[in-house]
Amino acid sequence: MKVEFLGGFQTVTGSATLLEKDSLLWLVDCGMFQGGRAIEERNRNVHPYHPRELSFILLTHAHIDHSGLIPKLVKEGFRGKVICTKATFDLCEVMLKDSGHIQEIEAEWQSRKNKRSGREDTAPLYTAEDAEKSLRYFQTVGYDEILSLSDGVKIRFQDAGHILGSALIEIWVEEGGQEKKLVFSGDLGGSGQPIIRDPSPVVEADILWLESTYGDRLHKSREETVQELLKIILEAISHQAKVVIPAFAVERTQNLIYTISQLIRKDLIPSIPVYIDSPLAISATEIFKENPDCFDEETKGLLLGGEDPLELPEIKYTRTTEESKAINEDPRSGIIISASGMCDSGRVQHHLKHHLWRSESHIVFIGYQAEGTVGRRIVDGAETIRLFGEEIAVRAHVHTLGGFSAHADQKGLLEWLSHFRNPNLQIFVNHGEEKISMELSEIIHQKLKFEAAVPQWREKRFLFTPEKRVMPEEKIEAAESPEERFSYLLKNLDRGYKKLRRKLRMRRSKRGGISDAEWLKELEEVNKKLEELESELE
Ligand SMILES: [Zn+2]
Ligand SMILES: [Zn+2]
Repeated sequence: MKVEFLGGFQTVTGSATLLEKDSLLWLVDCGMFQGGRAIEERNRNVHPYHPRELSFILLTHAHIDHSGLIPKLVKEGFRGKVICTKATFDLCEVMLKDSGHIQEIEAEWQSRKNKRSGREDTAPLYTAEDAEKSLRYFQTVGYDEILSLSDGVKIRFQDAGHILGSALIEIWVEEGGQEKKLVFSGDLGGSGQPIIRDPSPVVEADILWLESTYGDRLHKSREETVQELLKIILEAISHQAKVVIPAFAVERTQNLIYTISQLIRKDLIPSIPVYIDSPLAISATEIFKENPDCFDEETKGLLLGGEDPLELPEIKYTRTTEESKAINEDPRSGIIISASGMCDSGRVQHHLKHHLWRSESHIVFIGYQAEGTVGRRIVDGAETIRLFGEEIAVRAHVHTLGGFSAHADQKGLLEWLSHFRNPNLQIFVNHGEEKISMELSEIIHQKLKFEAAVPQWREKRFLFTPEKRVMPEEKIEAAESPEERFSYLLKNLDRGYKKLRRKLRMRRSKRGGISDAEWLKELEEVNKKLEELESELE
């Protein structure tokens, strides 16, 4: 059996893993790369095979960095099944169409630019219509249900506790007359997230793909974070001011509605207007309400008791731009939850224009702010921000709240990992910036004694056959100048050295010593070569 690491490796976006067993070829996730031109170029030519050859795409959850290239694959001939939970399908229906729409707008903008410089038009990756068409290849599966994909391949989706409908995927395959088990963590939530259930513990696995978004970090507790939010809201009410919260449309927005409704229910704050100002967030909230079987016991209990934790006495959904603009004409204090989460586009920019310069207003960041975004500049203390061609002074109170994250932190990841029983479990750490994935793999090794590796983008490996790896040639070819090639080789050497040390340490602790003379001889030769190089450079 073979694997190719196509995305989500050494980056958080573009999640995709290609698996091949006999003549069966399938993907786990099919995400879009996001975050800058160079990496987004990968979206145009990411798959080293024809989509028609693929039999399945197993989809962990609806986020675009996991699902975003499905319409492109269907457009290029994929005719298999996309398998996911029902809630993931419901969310994909709005999110993929929204993504197609964004692709169209961006291609249009690029084409206008091309025209001025005499170049050809840019075609969108896919359109909203392509996205709509791709939906007919989806097939839903219930949590805990075992599904047979073909002879010798079975799968099961379990709770991942990340967003509504999110799943970790277990795959059983028959290899050489034996049953082996692969597990994909997908994006993993921390325990105690509101609304949805916690990640299911998994005990058995031979190989695990583990996400590492926050593998180097510890989040503040949810309780502390709620207290901070409470203080901010009370302060805003006492000054008749507004609280602007840039938030992602799915999960984070619903998490906020749930939290605010909890504060009102406990009489900690009076009822105030809460504006949900993002059409995608409004649709996502409706989808949450249509999927109560994904809720945790606490939320189900509230519903049974006649309370809707996704309702508020003065919640206002603003679909049109006119409604959105009217929000700031209301003189009362209120909370505005608006997209995009990193303030780079969308309606939230209008609210920032209205409130950044007011010293009584509050801007609350609850999610990751990537470098180069408007959100990051505000968080980093910029004195002014340019919006709609105008320099706006930043005088509002700016807060960052850490405890609303939809990803487990380092402690959460290690806790979830501690359930695995197989001492020979092999872990591939993915979905993280390279430094963070490396750090997490080191910690996993130290604390849990599992072998953990950070694969490279487009690296191929044979599974269940030790030491057979094919390194990505593209990467070496891509480094054209001697300068680039030099730094690539150095980096690779560094990585190889670290891996080797880890493996040697594993061997020592497991088998009590190094006895392979061949190995030693090779190592000595490499060492000699390095010494030669060193003296040459001096
Ligand atoms: Zn996600
Ligand atoms: Zn993700």
